Amino acid sequence: MNYQLAVIPGDGIGPEIVEQALKVLDKIGQLYDHSFAYEKLLAGGCAIDAKGEPLPNETIEACKKSDAVILGAVGGYKWDTLPGHLRPEKALLGLRGELGLFANLRPAIIYDELKDACPLKPEIIGDSIDIMVVRELTGGIYFGERGRREGKMGKEAFDTETYSVGEVERIAKIAFEIAKKRNLKVTSVDKANILESSRLWREVVIEVSKEYPDVALDHLYVDNAAMQLIRNPRQFDVIVTSNMFGDILSDEASMITGSIGMLPSASLGENSFGLYEPIHGSAPDIAGQDKANPIATILSIAMLLRYSLNLEKEAQAVEEAVIKVLKEGYRTGDIMSPGKTLVGTKKMGELIVDTISKQ
Ligand code: NAD
Repeated sequence: MNYQLAVIPGDGIGPEIVEQALKVLDKIGQLYDHSFAYEKLLAGGCAIDAKGEPLPNETIEACKKSDAVILGAVGGYKWDTLPGHLRPEKALLGLRGELGLFANLRPAIIYDELKDACPLKPEIIGDSIDIMVVRELTGGIYFGERGRREGKMGKEAFDTETYSVGEVERIAKIAFEIAKKRNLKVTSVDKANILESSRLWREVVIEVSKEYPDVALDHLYVDNAAMQLIRNPRQFDVIVTSNMFGDILSDEASMITGSIGMLPSASLGENSFGLYEPIHGSAPDIAGQDKANPIATILSIAMLLRYSLNLEKEAQAVEEAVIKVLKEGYRTGDIMSPGKTLVGTKKMGELIVDTISKQ
């Protein structure tokens, strides 16, 4: 098959890590007889420098025509003093909105080889932790009506949490579909004891769950979910939640893995279109030094293969190569520990490419 991919390397370590990710895709293409065509696009600080704006229209248009988008990271010291609407990070929100990316998927996995990086006790981690947080990305309080007004105690400010049946239905369906490919469990997180929008959320999730009789569903209030993620993270498979709760819980879940350079993410829209990026930023402190860990971006490629191109075997081939290289003891600086072999960005990319084999 031929696939057209939009590639936004971005700023800082973005171009270095994306280069390794594309090598991985090329190897998958060779082994499985796919052809991937890349269109490199500007967004973030480099777009401000070249075009005077963080998200040029041609970038948006090219992304819309592609099968999926690969993003490195945007931002850096150079652009830190610009006004809000001209900041590189504006490109991220712009892309999500323009591309209709309403579901954010963030896996939090503790790899056997990197258990030391986890801040939790070994008896809590157990054999492994593998959680997928599915966060609604374009609704809720971040997009609701907001403002300021005069109140009884002086000026007051308000933000509004609103969810429609359609918005909850589509994110719930994504969560159940993902659970079908994983361990058949969805935990829906809300605050239905207090919030009306959460009560609707819960009703709709229960309704959608009827289409997925093989998937177990439970519900947690968000405060309890935050606690359970630390107390017993192994109980979770897929967590589905609203924009704000997901913002907080996905950071909490990813940080219990302790390794920012390892974690990928996907933002999905309709018809399996998606944008794939590492969860970390542009790491300007190590940019251009061959120190960045490319694994989060390479694992984002595995998510792209799985969720946008429906190429499960190919996705697994990438993930297995990453695990094998870690097992052989190779580490970039961020995940280095005594007795392991320190390698740079390029070498880590090459090792993974050389290890990928047809399943
Ligand atoms: P960061 O994630 O870029 O870096 C935090 C720390 O983690 C740094 O010490 C960095 O060296 C390290 N780190 C990050 N990724 C790494 C990797 N792959 N390998 C090894 N070490 C890695 O976060 P920050 O320092 O808060 O932000 C830097 C810039 O990135 C800012 O301009 C910020 O706005 C931007 N940012 C962009 C995105 C994005 O593009 N999606 C996300 C977060 C932050």
